[in-house]
Amino acid sequence: MQLFLSSFETVTGLPDFIGYIFVFIFGAIVGSFLNVVIHRVPNEESIIFPNSACPNCKNSIKPYDNIPLLSWLVLRGKCRNCKSAISPRYPAVELLTAIIFTVVFWQIGFNAFLPVALIFVASIVSLIFIDAENMILPNVITYPLLVFALFVRVLFPLFLENAYFTDLNIYPLNRMEDYPLWLVSLIGAILGALVGGGSLWLVGEIWKRLRGVEAMGLGDVKMMFAVGALLGWRLTLLTIFLGAFTGAVIGIVVISRQKEKDFQAQIPFGIFLGIGSIISLLLGEQMIHWYTETFLPK
Ligand SMILES: [Zn+2]
Repeated sequence: MQLFLSSFETVTGLPDFIGYIFVFIFGAIVGSFLNVVIHRVPNEESIIFPNSACPNCKNSIKPYDNIPLLSWLVLRGKCRNCKSAISPRYPAVELLTAIIFTVVFWQIGFNAFLPVALIFVASIVSLIFIDAENMILPNVITYPLLVFALFVRVLFPLFLENAYFTDLNIYPLNRMEDYPLWLVSLIGAILGALVGGGSLWLVGEIWKRLRGVEAMGLGDVKMMFAVGALLGWRLTLLTIFLGAFTGAVIGIVVISRQKEKDFQAQIPFGIFLGIGSIISLLLGEQMIHWYTETFLPK
């Protein structure tokens, strides 16, 4: 999506590296919040109250022991009070979010689409970790993400530049010049949602009829409605391809290492679709461009 890169330096007058440091720190702070979401949302607990507490001794964690990344290092991964181990998942989510935010900033640039992309990847990161741990993709995240995507697809063409949605330049949306841009963008969002969620739903239904087992959770379908609405049909197809590819590779590795082969084992597919959607958002257009330049006849 580097098409509309506008640099932090030209907008603020500050050197770019200041922007990167700021975004990295901001990412770590958001990652710290995502830890709360990942931990509490599957249990239907409030993400605001009460304050974080040690899961072992229930002592509430002091603000100075709750600094993203640093506190875990200073405390050497142990609770200050009871010395029980704090899961390395906490700093891992903080570090991962910080890194992804930095890459988003690098790829998207400093513009109105940046907060949209950050909200999107933050939601996806929380879904990935919740799916890995609980094998669910909660509605309280997927539904708002879908509504958010639809809002963005309508509001951006109305009030801001429209360069952010690359599906506007390709078939069939590029044939709709006679219609207002916000409507074309909304149609693109619905088309993307149908391609994303609809195709997964169809595959799941066919599989269920043929094999009599549930292959695809509805959570995956809802997540891909949201992904499709924001990214458009082409980047959504790429997301499914990347998700299926990484899922298959990891599935083969996992099964080949099992002593008792369990081919029916449920794979939290949302993890791979989530990874695929972040790659598609950040690098999808470049990947498609590279592919068509390399393999398709001129
Ligand atoms: Zn403790």
